[in-house]
Amino acid sequence: MLGSGVMLPFALGWVLRLSAVSRDPTTSTYIARDFLPTALLFTRYQLIGHGLLVLIGLAYLRRGDVPRWVLHAEVQHWFLCTAASLVMVGPFTSSFAVLFVTLPVLGYLLFPVRVVTLGVVTGSLATLAGVVLPALNVMPYAPFVGASPVVDGRLQTGWFFSVGGPSLFAGASVLFIFTAILRRLRVRQAELERLGRTDALTGLANRVVFFERLAAEVERSQRHTLPLSVLVIDVDHFKAVNDRHGHLAGDAALRALAARLDREGRASDLLARYGGEELTMVLPHTDTEGAKVVAERLRRAAHEIHVGERPLTVSIGIAQRRDSESHDALLARADDALYDAKRAGRDRVVVGR
Ligand code: GH3
Ligand code: MG
Ligand code: MG
Repeated sequence: MLGSGVMLPFALGWVLRLSAVSRDPTTSTYIARDFLPTALLFTRYQLIGHGLLVLIGLAYLRRGDVPRWVLHAEVQHWFLCTAASLVMVGPFTSSFAVLFVTLPVLGYLLFPVRVVTLGVVTGSLATLAGVVLPALNVMPYAPFVGASPVVDGRLQTGWFFSVGGPSLFAGASVLFIFTAILRRLRVRQAELERLGRTDALTGLANRVVFFERLAAEVERSQRHTLPLSVLVIDVDHFKAVNDRHGHLAGDAALRALAARLDREGRASDLLARYGGEELTMVLPHTDTEGAKVVAERLRRAAHEIHVGERPLTVSIGIAQRRDSESHDALLARADDALYDAKRAGRDRVVVGR
């Protein structure tokens, strides 16, 4: 419908123009006079077709859903009319040929693939006929053109407005629509990328980001012999929180805890949701002493989050990376420290051995 809407003014323009030319034979002298009635008939058919398609499209759009056959009719009409125009002015000698490149590009952007492919087949066969039939002497090549549109080295204005102009317009609109769609795709891709790296419940970085960052920091720490520490944070008796207050309250508590803990630490630190009620933190340029300070701050901050009457408590395991230690081994030591903290009574910070 959009396509026909765009074509409508052009079709109307051609009908008016050819009518004017048929009344005044001194204009557009390149047009073959004996072909004019046929050309006029075709442009009228084209105009009525586009008009009908716009009306049908509007009617269905108001109901909410445009059926497949309307899309087929629209695309077939486009391709057939373009092929016919191309045959009339000569497929190999007209800037209209641009339309035959731009039309599928535009079509595939706007319509389902199958619909456009069928249109391309119809249009190509019709255009091929416009080349093969003249070669077999069945019909003349470019019957619309009686003489060269170039007179004394100048292109006739009529030719520019009825053939060159629309070709330029088609090229420009494809470029415009293509860049608009490309821009939308890029925005959507960035959004998908963000979603793929963010934990849906807490909004913290997810474990993908955590492992990426940990691997990078391990490499940096090894290369420049810089200290690097990792925290593993686990909410104490969280199952009991869920059992007592329900999973929704549990979710809300996790969200609040994540937001609160994320306010601690430096900009270069990374707090991530490892999974469940476990968070992890990468602390670059930080040794055990520094990590203990951060962990204590986190432990106290957790007390600010209440579910019902009781404050949340967390247990935290710390590990500072040793020379040549892999990120797996580092994380395992922090995890062991966390379990030591649990065994020792929870709500505490333990440094890994
Ligand atoms: P511990 O002090 O030993 O860590 O006890 P715990 O109950 O926290 O440990 P456990 O690993 O047995 O249970 C963790 C619970 O955390 C289980 C699950 O119900 C809850 N949990 C994990 N992820 C979520 C979540 O996204 N939302 C909610 N509401 N609960 C979660
Ligand atoms: Mg727990
Ligand atoms: Mg746990």
